[in-house]
Amino acid sequence: MDTPQPPAQDDPDDLPWTFEPEEALPPLQVWEPDLDEWDPSLRVPARPLHHALLALGLLTVALSGWLVWEAAVIPPPLDLHTDLALAPREPAPERTRRRHILPAISISEAANFSGDALPLPPPAPGSWLYEHPERGQPFQLFTRQAHNRPSPQRNTLYLLPLGDLSPEELAVAEITRDFIGAYYNAPTALLPPHPIPEDTRHPRRRQLDARALLEVLSDAAPPDALGVLAITDQDLFIPDIDFVFGLGSADLRAAVFSTARYGEDFSLDGRPQSVLRRSLTVAVHELGHVLNMRHCTEFRCLMNGTSSLREADQHTLHLCPVCIRKASWLMGFDRYERYERLRDFYARWGFDAEVTFTERRLHPPLPSQILR
Ligand SMILES: [Zn+2]
Ligand SMILES: [Zn+2]
Repeated sequence: MDTPQPPAQDDPDDLPWTFEPEEALPPLQVWEPDLDEWDPSLRVPARPLHHALLALGLLTVALSGWLVWEAAVIPPPLDLHTDLALAPREPAPERTRRRHILPAISISEAANFSGDALPLPPPAPGSWLYEHPERGQPFQLFTRQAHNRPSPQRNTLYLLPLGDLSPEELAVAEITRDFIGAYYNAPTALLPPHPIPEDTRHPRRRQLDARALLEVLSDAAPPDALGVLAITDQDLFIPDIDFVFGLGSADLRAAVFSTARYGEDFSLDGRPQSVLRRSLTVAVHELGHVLNMRHCTEFRCLMNGTSSLREADQHTLHLCPVCIRKASWLMGFDRYERYERLRDFYARWGFDAEVTFTERRLHPPLPSQILR
């Protein structure tokens, strides 16, 4: 009987991967400098200029990235514009002013407006910009957003009396139509009165829904209408907002404004609180929105937002250098011819300060007179 044997164990010396060097490796050679022979003149010199250039390059790359980011952050598209009276909201953040003033103005505009392009003061509580922080609309952004443009087939601005207006209100409407033609250098026409769409009237508030009205106006606009602007003596609102002075939309090519909160001063001259002045201001402002212009946040300008009647009365009738550039680019008018038409209009209706302003645009002071 065979005696069980333990399994044979591999001899490590028999493993196939075992490597036996035929010769021993030479010892590691370590180089050591001979300090006695070191020559200081051979030292690589420090190059502060190179370091400064490298730092400047890195700074330039970082700055470029920041500028690209700034340019890419544009405000989201607005569907409708509102001129509202609102309860104060959270204070606007510090940064409500754009930093694109200089690139938006050409040298000739800057020279022509010397002394009359007044920057907006910091937003105060109750003002539009305080309650609605807006980033403005630089000229280049405007050219990309301007989708409602005139063409030979569609170039007329219509004024539409909404409901039964009084003779005084109809007189204001006719003067407003004349003003719109001079302001935007466009053919204008007064449409026959349109009955108030009763389904836009709120049953309890006895106000008209301005957004619903814009839909009606858009459907009723003639085919050649670049825009249609309705004037009404009915108070307007939009959902969740107490009242609005006006509303305008470039998408719908329609706008509406109300004289309901403009008082009873129907004198046909340029006095500050007259229905005529207030109507002219809101009419061309809302049509500015129809012509793709957003609120101006740089200068005192017709396109400043309005939060109250008091703020509206402080606004100017004039477009600032940035906004006149937008209107001129869109409508293709000669600015001097426009100022001549406006000066004649202002003189005809007793807008003395506006006559002076347009005269200064037609005959701007020489630089030597400005510096005096
Ligand atoms: Zn507005
Ligand atoms: Zn402006």
